[in-house]
Amino acid sequence: MTEQEKIELRRHIQAVRERIGHAAIQANRDPEEIILVAASKMNDAEHVQEAIKAGIRVCGENRVQELLEKYEQNAYAGADLQFIGTLQTNKVKFLVGKVSLIQSVGSAHLGETIAKVAEKQGICQDILLEVNIGKEAAKSGFLVEDLDDAMAILSEKKSLHIRGLMAIPPIADEKTKNSSYFNKMHQVFVDNLTKKYDNVDMDYLSMGMTNDFEMAIACGANMVRIGTAIFGARPYQIVSP
Ligand SMILES: *Cc1c(COP(=O)(O)O)cnc(C)c1O
Repeated sequence: MTEQEKIELRRHIQAVRERIGHAAIQANRDPEEIILVAASKMNDAEHVQEAIKAGIRVCGENRVQELLEKYEQNAYAGADLQFIGTLQTNKVKFLVGKVSLIQSVGSAHLGETIAKVAEKQGICQDILLEVNIGKEAAKSGFLVEDLDDAMAILSEKKSLHIRGLMAIPPIADEKTKNSSYFNKMHQVFVDNLTKKYDNVDMDYLSMGMTNDFEMAIACGANMVRIGTAIFGARPYQIVSP
């Protein structure tokens, strides 16, 4: 990275923090309670390390292979590493023991697989349950109506700790549209706060990305996953004129 690129990265992180702080205050909430997860996909170890130097405390990766490569290069040293992407059960064994939180558990089968691997390693794996709030056929995640059964099953696993919920709502044209999904998610989160399952604590509501994180915070998110606003557009996001 050039000196200029480093300065820019620092500026981006500062700007994102300010926007998070502003959104939190607008919503009468403490900026400190919002966890910023830097979604670092397609950014190499050097970029990730530079972001950590600039104050990033949590990194989120969404592809196992890429995570493992960067992990070997010590990209995440000094930060917490989480997994936020679609996860196949046969790759679970590569993640458990390396990531502090798997955000994207969208089926009981995946949860059970994680539990098995964690148990073998003698550890307890923190997870979030992913909710398919827009009921999209192409997306993974639990339907709201299936969440209760999933929690009942997974709460019996001593090697799992369910820490909250995650969602990626449908891409909306107008911002008002997404607020209804975010509000729905917050309602589901609040509904689950009062349920008493073993190994379940509704600590985190993870929703909001570059285009909508302020709206998500307004609706109750306390964990946002931000890539583009920190690292700039990824190669495939740059559309030629
Ligand atoms: C890439 C990614 C993000 C961040 O997206 P941006 O729009 O670049 O901020 C958030 N969540 C997940 C699961 C991602 O894969």
